Amino acid sequence: MLYSKLFPKTLKQIPSGAESVNHELLARAGFIHQEMAGVYTYLPLGWKVLDKISDIVRDEMNAIGGQEMLMPALHPASNWAKTGRLKTFDALFKVEGAAETDKGKTVLGPTHEEIIYPLLAEYIKSYKDLPLYLYQIQVKFRNEPRAKAGLLRGREFLMKDLYSFHTSDEDRNEYYEKVRDAYFKIFKRIGIPAVKTKASGGTFSDLSEEFQTLTPSGEDTVFICSKEGTAFNKEIIEGAKCPDCGSELKEEKAIEVGNIFPLKRAYAEVFNLSFTDEKGEKKIVSAGCYGLGISRVMGAVVEVFHDEKGIVWPVTVAPYQVHIVGLDGEGEKIYKLLLAERVEVLFDDRIGVSAGAKFADADLLGIPYRVVVSRKTRDKLEIKKRSEKETKFVTLEQLLEVVK
Ligand code: ATP
Ligand code: MG
Repeated sequence: MLYSKLFPKTLKQIPSGAESVNHELLARAGFIHQEMAGVYTYLPLGWKVLDKISDIVRDEMNAIGGQEMLMPALHPASNWAKTGRLKTFDALFKVEGAAETDKGKTVLGPTHEEIIYPLLAEYIKSYKDLPLYLYQIQVKFRNEPRAKAGLLRGREFLMKDLYSFHTSDEDRNEYYEKVRDAYFKIFKRIGIPAVKTKASGGTFSDLSEEFQTLTPSGEDTVFICSKEGTAFNKEIIEGAKCPDCGSELKEEKAIEVGNIFPLKRAYAEVFNLSFTDEKGEKKIVSAGCYGLGISRVMGAVVEVFHDEKGIVWPVTVAPYQVHIVGLDGEGEKIYKLLLAERVEVLFDDRIGVSAGAKFADADLLGIPYRVVVSRKTRDKLEIKKRSEKETKFVTLEQLLEVVK
C-alpha cells in the first residue's frame, strides 16, 4: 500500500472525546473514527487489524469443530419477551419502524441466545444431530452507560460468540475444556497475555470463567495469588487472602477479553430445544456459550502495547509487517520487491514531507518493522523494530529473512 493513497492520514491533534489511550492513538493514527459515544467507523487500517484478530479466532474455533455462520442483528422482540429479557436486559436497544404496527416488534441483538435456540429447535430432532458447535463474528448492540473507553466498551461492537449443544452435561463439560484451551491459544497468538478468573456467572450457570488481560487501564479488578499465580474475580474474594492457599493477593486492573459459560438448560427449556435419545426418550439439550470481544481485543492490544510515540503492534495482528520510509524519492524498488515476495508492506512514498514527520508517523502507526531507504543507504537497508531502539543495516536477503 502506498501511504500517499491511504485513507486517512494521521492526525496532529487528539480528537475530541478521546478519553482513553486506545481511542486517542487509534484515532490519531487513522485506524478508527468515533461517530458518537461507543460507536466507531473502522477505517482501512483498523479494519485490517480486526480482520487479523478475527482470522486467528476463526482458525482456533474451526480447529475445535466450530462451524461459522451469521445471525441477524435485528431480532424479533417476541423472542426476547419469551426469555423475559425484553424487560430485564437493561442495555437492550429497542427499535421500531415508521408504521404504527411496527411498534414494539424489534430489538437490536446484544447477544444471540434468543435467535440460536429457537433456530436449533426447528432442526434438532435426535441425539444423532448432536453435538453441534456454531459460532459467528458479528456486531452486537448494547446501550452501555459508560461508553468512554474507546474500543474497550462499545455500544456497537464486534464479538465472536460460539454456542455448543450437547446430549449431556458431561459432553458439554468436555467441550468447555477444549474451548478454554482454544482461548488460551488465541490470546497467545494475538500476543496479549490473558489470565483466567472464576466469575459469578449470574443466574444461568454455576461455573463461568473470564479471560482477563492485566493492564492498569482495565475497568475490572482481579486478584492474583502471590504464591501460585491463580487469578480471582472480585466477586468471590472475601478477605485479602487466597481462598486456595491463604497467601497474599495482589490487586490488578484488567480488561475482560473473553468469557465462557456453561448455560445448562435454561434457554433450551424456554425454546423447547430437545432431542430423542437412543431409547426414544425426549430430553432437553445441554448447552454452553463462549464470547470473545474482537473489537475490545483490538483496544486491549493498544492499551498493552504502546509507548509515548504511538502504537507497537504485535506481528500477528499488525495491519502491515513492514513500513518503508522512503527518503529522497527512494524506496520504490524495494517496495516492489517486497510486494513480489508477498510481504505486507506500507510504503511512505510522500514527496515533500520531512524525514522527521515520516518517522513520527511510522512510530504512531506502530507497524513492526521500519525500513528506511534513502540516497545515502541505497544498497544497504536501515531496519528497526518498532519495539526496539537500535537500527541495523541489512541486505535485501537479510530483510526478507527477518520479515517472512
Ligand atoms: P463486561 O462485564 O465487560 O460488560 P460482559 O460480561 O457483559 O462484559 P459478555 O456478555 O460475556 O460480556 O460478552 C462477551 C465478550 O464480549 C466479553 O468478554 C467482552 O470481551 C466483549 N464485550 C462485552 N461487552 C462489550 C462492549 N460493550 N464493548 C466491547 N466488547 C464487549
Ligand atoms: Mg456487560
